[in-house]
Amino acid sequence: MNPFRYERASDASTAVAMLGQASGGAFLGGGTNLVDLMKLGVAQPQLLIDVSHLPYNRVELLSDGSVRIGAAVRNSDLAADRTIRSRYPMLAQALLAGASGQLRNLATTGGNLLQRTRCVYFQDISKPCNKREPGSGCPAREGYHRNLAILGASEACVATHPSDMAVALVALDAVIRVLGPNGERTIPLTDFHRLPGDEPQRDTMLEHGELITAVLCRLPRQSMLLRA
Ligand SMILES: Cc1cc2nc3c(=O)[nH]c(=O)nc-3n(C[C@H](O)[C@H](O)[C@H](O)COP(=O)(O)OP(=O)(O)OC[C@H]3O[C@@H](n4cnc5c(N)ncnc54)[C@H](O)[C@@H]3O)c2cc1C
Ligand code: SF4
Repeated sequence: MNPFRYERASDASTAVAMLGQASGGAFLGGGTNLVDLMKLGVAQPQLLIDVSHLPYNRVELLSDGSVRIGAAVRNSDLAADRTIRSRYPMLAQALLAGASGQLRNLATTGGNLLQRTRCVYFQDISKPCNKREPGSGCPAREGYHRNLAILGASEACVATHPSDMAVALVALDAVIRVLGPNGERTIPLTDFHRLPGDEPQRDTMLEHGELITAVLCRLPRQSMLLRA
């Protein structure tokens, strides 16, 4: 693993400012994906800014009936939350379908949305991969591509995003709250993950330095509540 610096952010604005000044830095959630990729040499951040202790660890029912999920809420806590289980059972089920209890205890909501593909060539730095190294090629097209894309693939990349949670959130019309150097913005989850196109190295619409602070789920339609 390459040497790197570790900082724990005291607040969100400081975290955003720190990453804005470090082009080779990255936010750290539970580390269950990023640290693995660092061990494999796929990711080589020089600075890790730990955002898992920021005050975004609550699931809140808002006055307009929607639910705000903080970006630092752990996957286990989200799946066990009473509001989530009663209003959005598909979200709890999707979370529990993923990874293992130990991983879910660490994995955060923000980190889960930004985990990288599990394409075997992406994770192997001895192989070419357009997502990891643009222009180097895509061996998955002719090689091992189980669980990769049938729809939405491109000549450059056929990778899929591995988050089970994201699929449920897309079905629930969730939106993502982001804080960046230019302030706050909201991104519908349907627009958040990019198809690979000819820029497979870009997984999402997030810009460098932008921090996910929360995910917002609207009140489910009455029919969904009755089914639950
Ligand atoms: C063995 C194994 C099996 C797995 N199986 C499944 C599965 O079946 N289904 C599934 O969905 N997932 C699965 N996962 C993936 C797991 O869910 C993710 O590793 C986890 O959700 C990532 O969350 P994290 O908080 O640890 O992210 P990290 O590893 O800390 O970060 C991931 C990315 O998010 C960025 N980031 C983190 N927080 C923020 C933030 N607030 N704002 C902006 N950027 C941020 C980091 O910079 C990094 O790029 C598996 C993982 C492993 C290791
Ligand atoms: S499918 Fe994408 S991630 Fe996998 S080898 Fe091809 S370019 Fe890389």
